[in-house]
Amino acid sequence: VRRLVLLLGDHLDLHSPHLATVDPERDLCLLVEARAEAQRVWSHKARIALFLSAMRHGAEALRQRGLRVEYWALAEHPYDDLVTAVAAALRRFAPQRLALHEPGTWALAEGLRDLANAAGTEFELWPASQFLFTREEFQSWAGAQRQHRMEFWYRHARRRTGILMEGDQPLGGRWNYDSENRHSFGKAGPGWLPEPLAFAPDAITREVLTVVEREFPDHPGSLAHFDWPVTMIEAEAALEDFIAQRLPSFGSFQDASWPGAVWLYHSRLSAAMNLGLLHPQRVIEAALGAHARAEASLAATEGFVRQILGWREFVRGIYWRYMPDYLEENALGAEQPLPQFYWSAQTDMACLRDVLQRTLDYGYAHHIERLMITGLFALLLGVAPKAIHAWYLAIYVDAVEWVELPNVLGMSQYADGGRVASKPYVASGHYIARMTGHCARCPYRPQERVGAKACPFTTLYWDFLIRHADPFARHPRTALQWKHLESLDAATRAEIQQAANKLRETWAKGV
Ligand code: FAD
Ligand code: SF4
Repeated sequence: VRRLVLLLGDHLDLHSPHLATVDPERDLCLLVEARAEAQRVWSHKARIALFLSAMRHGAEALRQRGLRVEYWALAEHPYDDLVTAVAAALRRFAPQRLALHEPGTWALAEGLRDLANAAGTEFELWPASQFLFTREEFQSWAGAQRQHRMEFWYRHARRRTGILMEGDQPLGGRWNYDSENRHSFGKAGPGWLPEPLAFAPDAITREVLTVVEREFPDHPGSLAHFDWPVTMIEAEAALEDFIAQRLPSFGSFQDASWPGAVWLYHSRLSAAMNLGLLHPQRVIEAALGAHARAEASLAATEGFVRQILGWREFVRGIYWRYMPDYLEENALGAEQPLPQFYWSAQTDMACLRDVLQRTLDYGYAHHIERLMITGLFALLLGVAPKAIHAWYLAIYVDAVEWVELPNVLGMSQYADGGRVASKPYVASGHYIARMTGHCARCPYRPQERVGAKACPFTTLYWDFLIRHADPFARHPRTALQWKHLESLDAATRAEIQQAANKLRETWAKGV
């Protein structure tokens, strides 16, 4: 064997230019289902099933292309983790070179490089193909800065690509249409919502679902609703369905949340993009096409493009720039354990119960639910960054470390001290009451800080302001928010802190 081409579960882009260089005579493709990849983090059953099904479909497509494929299914090899399995493959096939796309996890990239070096095998690392920019482009944009703002990256990316540009000016004269986006559903709720195109499990997926139930029975989450796209053809169909049915209202309701409403107007394309089944360029072109045909407004189109050209590329750049130290960051000194109810949805807080239950049922919650409900609560409570990171990496079908970690540690927990977020995103139950329909179904009252009916978000919000007055009361971006503390006398502050400590004690006991 000249080259052993290792295809990882998040590199199933069959159009990758590097894959086109694989020689059916001299090269061998290897795909390995590794038990430890599912167990290293306590993965949601749907997340494991999605990876395995997409890998099995990918292997089939490669065989149909005439390539030689070695597929090591979970039950058919004795190796627990991926690096050990690849070591065995190097011994067995003795290739001159080990080739692969850059993994989505720093530790795996290092482990495989070390392995190839130790085995005396040349290491051929291909750039990941499921992005619009290279890691080097981000590094050169970031330069010597230690704090980075997505907005400036996004403008750079638009100028570089010409996307939504008229010459050197943003199309329509503005970079940002947030003021026209981000509505709530009010009291009436969302009314009729379009059902996303569902992909009924085929024979390969059905087999995978059986394997996952058998091999990982204690893992969190359910497979009952598994209908994710698992091939490139299905991912394209999911994209077209989103563009036709939901993109036009995407911007307006991108920040809203409603009890029991799983998808709203979101694309649910993250997993397909992260696994390499759908290229972000194609997703953006499809959205621009809808705008050109006057089927989606500029505000909706820009709001959506920003997520991909802006956020997705930005967080990936941050990950590779700051790993491995990034994983150790804990700027706010948070040490609380993660409450047990994150794994069970057994809580009487209506917003958390609803979002956590949907997360367990589908392996999905949309951005603002991850940021301003599950993420916010962990931030206010003071959960240790590594504990909340482990949960996010386990529980969402689209979770891969390069995208999950900067979103959790940086955006949501402010654990990186402001590298990606200009301030901690903290809010009380008032915000949740305004943007969602959850509070009307809750035993707590979002406006109450202390007492039997006090909303835990609100208690912990005020406690957060008190605990972190230094440095945020002096920080230009946060001073206004912290100024509200001045309205509290010493007795009220003590009462809030007592109530917050009681909440922390309760959840530290694993309730
Ligand atoms: P849409 O709302 O339809 O957005 C379109 C696309 O934009 C997404 O598919 C995604 O590719 C991209 N996107 C949107 N926001 C972000 C963002 N903040 N960072 C990167 N890409 C973005 N996304 C993941 O793919 N994997 C994760 O593990 C993940 N963990 C997150 C953890 C937290 C705490 C937060 C706040 C966000 C996280 N995100 C993650 C980003 C975002 O929540 C998901 O990409 C999105 O909810 C996926 O649903 P969708 O495809 O329907 O997205
Ligand atoms: Fe959540 Fe508080 Fe509203 Fe209840 S009152 S749903 S806990 S924000």
